[in-house]
Amino acid sequence: MRRLTKIIRGNLDSWDEICVNNCARLRLNLILFSLVISIVFLVMAIRTAAMINFYTAVPTMLFGSVTFSLFLWQFLHIKYSMVVAWMFGVMSLAMAVFFIASGGVEGTGHIWICILPIVGTMMVPFKSTLIYNGILFVLLICLLRGPFYIHISAEYSTYMRTVFPISIMILTLCNYVSEYTRQRTQRQLISMTEKLRNSAFTDPLTGAYNRRALTAHFGEPNESAYGLSFAMLDLDYFKKVNDTYGHELGDRLLCHLVTLVKKCIPPGAQLYRWGGEEFLLALKSTDIDILRSVLENIRKKVAETPMESPSQGDEPATILFATVSIGGVSASLQDNIERSINLADEQMYLAKNAGRNIVMIKTEAHR
Ligand code: GH3
Ligand code: MG
Ligand code: MG
Repeated sequence: MRRLTKIIRGNLDSWDEICVNNCARLRLNLILFSLVISIVFLVMAIRTAAMINFYTAVPTMLFGSVTFSLFLWQFLHIKYSMVVAWMFGVMSLAMAVFFIASGGVEGTGHIWICILPIVGTMMVPFKSTLIYNGILFVLLICLLRGPFYIHISAEYSTYMRTVFPISIMILTLCNYVSEYTRQRTQRQLISMTEKLRNSAFTDPLTGAYNRRALTAHFGEPNESAYGLSFAMLDLDYFKKVNDTYGHELGDRLLCHLVTLVKKCIPPGAQLYRWGGEEFLLALKSTDIDILRSVLENIRKKVAETPMESPSQGDEPATILFATVSIGGVSASLQDNIERSINLADEQMYLAKNAGRNIVMIKTEAHR
């Protein structure tokens, strides 16, 4: 039983995924639908075989095998749910056309159309549901009132011809409204989750990521850091800035630094606020030359770009030049994340001791 649960968990999207992701939801619907249909076919085949003989049950068994293969295919392949959803939609429309053209099974074809709006709303991608259900409704009207009527053996009463399309229309509308509400709630949920996620992972002052984000991006501190390079950046004499110009301007300098650093880092690199005026940079590369050039670029850019603060009231405009000391390391095979960050930190302190506004990188010779 535990093994079975493991297999099911392994092959289905997580519940969170199903709640917020349309593809995952469609896939679940398709899996359940094809499973139920194949069970129905199996029961019908057994019943037919028992009542008449084995050979008469062969077509039902064939249909059952097809839907069961579809179930297996959906269960094992995560990618193609949209394609299969469309296939189901088109197939169900074809079924409706078949019922109209043939007059249905013993004239009860119209009854089958009842399930199609439900199937469609469940299966077809939402934006197309209205078109799908519209086509279905037109077909239904044709079936009950239109020129195809002559093909149908069953006699439909006036009551049937009026009440049936109306009830199908109401059913379709209810389905549509409930699906629309579900989708809207889903969208709100996604945007709320996104906002919460952003606020949980970013520093509210500078907009850089926080420590929690580092764990989310690269795993726990004891996980391997191989393939990554880290750099610790620390503003020089930042306390003096606070003491001379005030905390507010100090805050603005932190934001100014983040803006400049973000302009210098390659795609895929991430910046984290590590402490007060300390920032951690993570690069997805172990190339020392790339690391050195990125860090030198940052150092130069910060040193050359002053922060300009316009005059406010009596206070004159401030032009503030700042510098950063940077320590970098490229992780080796045995380094974990925590050790790599500590090594980058050590290098940053060496840069401070060497006079500040310097980049220090740990090379293999230092190890
Ligand atoms: P060093 O060159 O050795 O790095 O000197 P420093 O003055 O930059 O370093 P120190 O660690 O002595 O001072 C850091 C200061 O950063 C102290 C603290 O008040 C300030 N600080 C920490 N967080 C914030 C913040 O969010 N906003 C502001 N404005 N200041 C902060
Ligand atoms: Mg500092
Ligand atoms: Mg510091």
